[in-house]
Amino acid sequence: MFNHIVCRYNEIATKSGNRSVFERRLIDNMRMLCLRAGIRLKFARMRGRILIYREENSEFTEEEREKITSCLKKCFGLDSFSFCLEGTPDMKSVMEMVEKTVPAAFAPLLEKKDTVEFRTRARRSDKSFPLTSREIEIEAATKIEELIGAGHVKVNLTNPDITLGLEVREKNSILFYDSVKSAGGLPVGSNAPVLALLSGGIDSPVACHMIMGRGCHVNFLTFHSYPYTPTETVGKVRRIATLLNRWQAPGTLYACNISEVQKLIRDHCDPRYRTVLYRRMMMRIASMVCREKKLHAVVTGESVGQVASQTVENLSVIEKASDYPILRPLCGLDKNETIRRAVELETFPVSIEPMPDSCTVFAPPSPVLHAKLHTVEFEESKIPDMNSALEKAFQSIESFSDI
Ligand code: ATP
Ligand code: MG
Repeated sequence: MFNHIVCRYNEIATKSGNRSVFERRLIDNMRMLCLRAGIRLKFARMRGRILIYREENSEFTEEEREKITSCLKKCFGLDSFSFCLEGTPDMKSVMEMVEKTVPAAFAPLLEKKDTVEFRTRARRSDKSFPLTSREIEIEAATKIEELIGAGHVKVNLTNPDITLGLEVREKNSILFYDSVKSAGGLPVGSNAPVLALLSGGIDSPVACHMIMGRGCHVNFLTFHSYPYTPTETVGKVRRIATLLNRWQAPGTLYACNISEVQKLIRDHCDPRYRTVLYRRMMMRIASMVCREKKLHAVVTGESVGQVASQTVENLSVIEKASDYPILRPLCGLDKNETIRRAVELETFPVSIEPMPDSCTVFAPPSPVLHAKLHTVEFEESKIPDMNSALEKAFQSIESFSDI
């Protein structure tokens, strides 16, 4: 029935004269996500809206609708969208669209109940249009009563079974029924690209998703400790990265073997400091990757107070080893909320697959909870030739860009 899609985005995000950049980025991302699902679309910008056309301008099939819906729901920057019909900006065309769609739109509801409750919602961006929004709504509602029969429909403005939406603009008019909620936030790529530290755990994938929603394209860095952790740990993280890439043009996964550095820490430093020292090494390697790949910040799934390494003091000592800002989107989030989001992202079932963690290799039974920077620096000074060990770890990084 519908051959167009009307897309709405958060207008507040586009106030400061950057609307056109925002819209173009959003269109590129929508096009890319749909192309990846094998669907080629055309796009047109209207004031405050984007209209999507099918290449052939014909109606969308049910299968296409499902595929497009799934892609557009993952498009950051997009607030909501509706499959719609497009007409000319006059009441004759609007009424023709109402006539064309109302019987089919109401039929499934009329099978279930005698009286269908509905409302009409109109907007006009062309203020010179002869009818007000309210008058358009009344005309459309009257038409619906006429088409279905007054006994079978009733207006309900607050909780209707069905809402008919109409928009009259300068160059066209559109009609739609359902509105699908999308990802919101800002289009990926509208902010600087970043590097996320992705473990196989529950939290870091959620952090990646949240930061994508602020417009950052995310690349991933994972640390493993082969042969002390199995090779499958990287496979697991790779599957998580693939799931996350459904929201963006694929980010690259970098996998770094940190076991030699960990051995040096094991052999030369106070065992209670191992976890904090590992983390600082991770930050240093992350900084090296950021520098080489021109990424602007490091993202982690750290929260405050969740585990020993996440006391405020330890977080502070860890971040001092990074040359780049550390973004911790989960900082104030409750663990239950993080889990709820991980379930929604479909990363949760992969994350809970049991797998040894790089950070627990040689980990002491009682790690230090309130590390002091000077003590940590003293421990690090005991490591012979730390920089060349870091350089070796950095050189051995494997990249996966086909995910
Ligand atoms: P997660 O569920 O993301 O592993 P967590 O609650 O288990 O988080 P930690 O294990 O202390 O907490 O890790 C905190 C953060 O440090 C992770 O969210 C991740 O960003 C980073 N991190 C930890 N281990 C690794 C690793 N092996 N590779 C890459 N990043 C890691
Ligand atoms: Mg973890």
